[in-house]
Amino acid sequence: HFDVIIVGAGHGGAQAAAALRQRGFAGTIAMIGEEPELPYERPPLSKEYLARDKPFERLLIRQPAFWTEKNVTMRLGERVEAVDPGARAIVLADGTPLGYGQLVWATGGHARRMTCDGADLVGLHSVRSRADVDRIMAELPSVTKVVVIGGGYIGLEAAAVLSKLGKAVTVLEAQDRVLARVAGPALSQFIEAEHRAHGVDVRLGVVVDCVLGEAHVTGVRLAGGEELAADLVIVGIGIVPAVQPLLAAGAEGVNGVAVDAECRTSLQDIFAIGDCALHANAYADDLPIRLESVQNATDMATTVAKVITGAAEPYDAVPWFWSNQYDIRLQTIGISAGHDAEVVRGDPATRSFSIVYLKQGRVVALDCLNATRDYVQGKALVVARATIAPEQLADHATPLKEMLA
Ligand code: FAD
Repeated sequence: HFDVIIVGAGHGGAQAAAALRQRGFAGTIAMIGEEPELPYERPPLSKEYLARDKPFERLLIRQPAFWTEKNVTMRLGERVEAVDPGARAIVLADGTPLGYGQLVWATGGHARRMTCDGADLVGLHSVRSRADVDRIMAELPSVTKVVVIGGGYIGLEAAAVLSKLGKAVTVLEAQDRVLARVAGPALSQFIEAEHRAHGVDVRLGVVVDCVLGEAHVTGVRLAGGEELAADLVIVGIGIVPAVQPLLAAGAEGVNGVAVDAECRTSLQDIFAIGDCALHANAYADDLPIRLESVQNATDMATTVAKVITGAAEPYDAVPWFWSNQYDIRLQTIGISAGHDAEVVRGDPATRSFSIVYLKQGRVVALDCLNATRDYVQGKALVVARATIAPEQLADHATPLKEMLA
């Protein structure tokens, strides 16, 4: 029995344990993670780690000694298969039950898989875990042609790294622009142009019919019949939240587990945080969403640590995110989904500019490209849901902080 069991040793799980100890929690804590590694940062997987600019040791969220010092029992390489809320226990894959006082579900999600023919061929990879990327890196020496399925952040970051490594890369996106789910058209167009300028073939509005090959992939066939040759296929089409054991135990939720402002699920003494937590986000008109970001995982973890240590505060953190592609550092604040206007601040040709998203005249989000000053100052505008005239926002010479009355 442990006072707190954390399921999932990723960004959220690591921060939950660290924040509990930081806040003086003296009870027993166990963290159970199905991956063999100590908690590590996932963002570099499609960036510096894939590029071999950072070794794995530098991805660790805390050094190994930290977990011993903080007396956190690590059970790695173990999977939680079931939850029994009545008995206040979780059940491991080998059938072992473990009792808990409070349970923190921080399982993120698993990479969504293709369902078409050829989806099981060798040479087809997701980019979710260290193991995925190690498999990709092991194959790279014999790879010349790469097809990336999915023009979201992860697919585009991988495309940028692989093209820099000299591979011929094609990105296939089903929508009529990349990043359609997370950004406005101006950003999509800029990013598409960057990839094309680096020799990446970005194909929009295309549907994959099947993956070709006997044992190993040899290509991808599109719905129109066109065949693209490939020695390596990367699939970046999103995640499926890892919540089946909780939903099976009766927790509310679809495509994630529903939580309230204190990250409590509908089951007693069971919290959920991070990528798997479906919550009403103040920056998305209180609509239920899942946010897949380090910010959301770590801030929700802190919220839970506060609740458990008797200092509850509702979760209302400002969403932020980043992505690196080539020499572009993109930083996002707020949630742009549902915006009805976008204002470009600065000249995209200078490769340093921002896009301000408005909803009913109020600032809801910014995408800042090589524009950290706007990112830092824009936060206050998003928090205030500031009403600022588009002409004023477009005036790049005036710092954003001077626009807040
Ligand atoms: P995770 O970090 O995914 O951790 C969950 C852990 O739980 C995993 O190890 C999983 O295997 C394990 N698990 C699942 N089910 C079970 C079970 N039943 N039993 C035991 N263990 C289980 N975010 C950003 O903000 N900026 C970025 O630039 C960025 N880039 C990214 C690049 C890549 C390639 C990826 C994959 C993600 C990126 N993200 C980025 C997203 C960010 O990494 C996630 O939002 C974050 O990891 C979520 O943390 P989490 O704790 O919810 O889940």
